[in-house]
Amino acid sequence: MQNEYEIKKLMCDIGKRVYDRGMVAANDGNFSVKLNDHEFLCTPTGVSKGFMTPEYICKVDENGELIQANKGFKPSSEIKMHMRVYKMRPDVGSVVHAHPLYATAFAIAGIPLTQPIMPEAIISLGCVPIAEYGTPSTDEIPDNLEKYLPYFDAVLLENHGALTWSTDLLAAYHKMESVEFYANLLYKSKMLGGPKEFDEKNIEKLYAIRRKFGMPGKHPASVCLNQGSANCHTCGGNCGEDFRQFPGYQYDFVGKKSADAPANKDMSANGKTVDEKMVSDITKKVLAQLDSNK
Ligand SMILES: [Zn+2]
Repeated sequence: MQNEYEIKKLMCDIGKRVYDRGMVAANDGNFSVKLNDHEFLCTPTGVSKGFMTPEYICKVDENGELIQANKGFKPSSEIKMHMRVYKMRPDVGSVVHAHPLYATAFAIAGIPLTQPIMPEAIISLGCVPIAEYGTPSTDEIPDNLEKYLPYFDAVLLENHGALTWSTDLLAAYHKMESVEFYANLLYKSKMLGGPKEFDEKNIEKLYAIRRKFGMPGKHPASVCLNQGSANCHTCGGNCGEDFRQFPGYQYDFVGKKSADAPANKDMSANGKTVDEKMVSDITKKVLAQLDSNK
């Protein structure tokens, strides 16, 4: 277990990465780490996250109230958003908020990241919905976020940016990187005439990998598939009321309602069939990679 000072140092390192990768401009972005049920470290407001040293980091309690901050530093103005995640998800140890360019562009255009286009994104993220707009620093963002928290580990914030959470800071930050990479790929493949999407069968295989590895966190793979044969990317809302509450969640899937439009028929109608051998090759590669990461 890392001590508090080491965690503060890691927060500075992650701040530098977030800033250097252009995931925030100026003093934007914020992240937090849970120490225990009553103590949380968070980045200060009004400073660039690219140039922090450990004494910048503030400490708050479970209500976001200040416990400790050095002179001249105040906890992030978005701390309420972080606290809501911790409150509703006891399994979460860190929350990261940034404005990565492509993900934020999707959040502004009102397009959730739901197209099944690459194995890693399907396995690690599933779909990334858009939480409805809220005024920063008020209760609006946490309130709008709430209904997504039991089902996802990453959301776009409408007309604002992205929010990810996971077991620890590095994992939550990596999730942010993955969201941005997925958004970047989706944007560019749209520019090239539109991505080829996986069909239902291949998505199911990728979900099976996720379940096999017992990856932490929430993922549509563990919700939708309990409801029957459909999965999050192609069920068109068939997986039940739980998912219908997310506006735009089923944005532009290949197969609207999987019950009356089987994936294969749909794919050929679109002229966009992904070669099955290719998917099984990629699946093998992902498996090998996951193995070597252990
Ligand atoms: Zn923001």
